[in-house]
Amino acid sequence: MNDPNVFSNPCAICKTAEADRLCDYIVEYNRNPIFFRDYQSFKESVEHGHDSTCDLPLCTKCRTLINGADLCPYHYEIYKKAQNLPEKLRKYQRKSKARIAQEMLQMSKEAAE
Ligand SMILES: [Zn+2]
Ligand SMILES: [Zn+2]
Repeated sequence: MNDPNVFSNPCAICKTAEADRLCDYIVEYNRNPIFFRDYQSFKESVEHGHDSTCDLPLCTKCRTLINGADLCPYHYEIYKKAQNLPEKLRKYQRKSKARIAQEMLQMSKEAAE
């Protein structure tokens, strides 16, 4: 079947299936309102998350699902590499995560009082 209407939104990777999702990989961090072009884009980003995602159209076959996020093959490779933090840095990462967990616990205790 090669009806062009069937694939009005083809998958960017295989081009043989309809894309039903977008790549969720964050390509740009926008945590500062100064980066927004106008109020509307600022408002949308607050409603939909602050960060710009890849947004490549993907079909079910071509995406990789990571913790509820869809990744295109290109960003899945980067994601795998990004997991390999050197061991000598990991101990700092663990310390800071432990501290955050401790603070969260403290806050929830205070909220319960
Ligand atoms: Zn595909
Ligand atoms: Zn992507």
